[in-house]
Amino acid sequence: MARYKDAVCKQCRREGTKLFLKGDRCATEKCAFDRRSYPPGQHGTRRSKFSEYGIQLREKQKAKRIYGILEDQFSLYFQRAERQKGITGDNLLSLLEQRLDNVVYRLGFAPSRNSARQLVRHNHFIVNGKKVNIPSYRIRKGDVVEVRFESKDLKCINTFLNQRGEKFIPSWLSLDKENLKGTVLSLPNREDINLPVQEQLIVELYSR
Ligand code: SF4
Repeated sequence: MARYKDAVCKQCRREGTKLFLKGDRCATEKCAFDRRSYPPGQHGTRRSKFSEYGIQLREKQKAKRIYGILEDQFSLYFQRAERQKGITGDNLLSLLEQRLDNVVYRLGFAPSRNSARQLVRHNHFIVNGKKVNIPSYRIRKGDVVEVRFESKDLKCINTFLNQRGEKFIPSWLSLDKENLKGTVLSLPNREDINLPVQEQLIVELYSR
């Protein structure tokens, strides 16, 4: 499966904002964006002016990078969002939030979406009692996402869960911390998604 292989922090520097892709490290002084907030590369320190297209493109890249997905898959999400009733931009973000790796991250089982993806791929989670190892698996209302019995003692899951605290759990999810189990109370809408993304610009980009 294709995946992004370059240095992760370059993505934050390119987008000009912290995307929080590395979990704990993002809150420390080691954060590359805090140390060098200009774009990567030889000409990174030069000021660049974006065209309208450039602004829309950057917004799309930002959303892709936050959720850690590549171009083709993102475009499929957009097509699906367009086919749904309602506002396309809102549908797009909601669909991205419904990915299993994102839900695992939002429930606090992993410090970042990247690590959540790895945990899902390594068969550490079950959904409604069945093993699911597909990070893009789309969760539905009422689904129960649980750490597999054999993985309940995993240090990486427990350490982060204890550090994070329940105030970070969004209102559309509920967490049973003792049993390492989360329930999808409702599907996320735009107000539930606190990301610095202007989805309307993405819609404009794809409408060109
Ligand atoms: Fe981005 Fe986190 Fe890297 Fe900072 S440490 S640049 S927020 S991924």
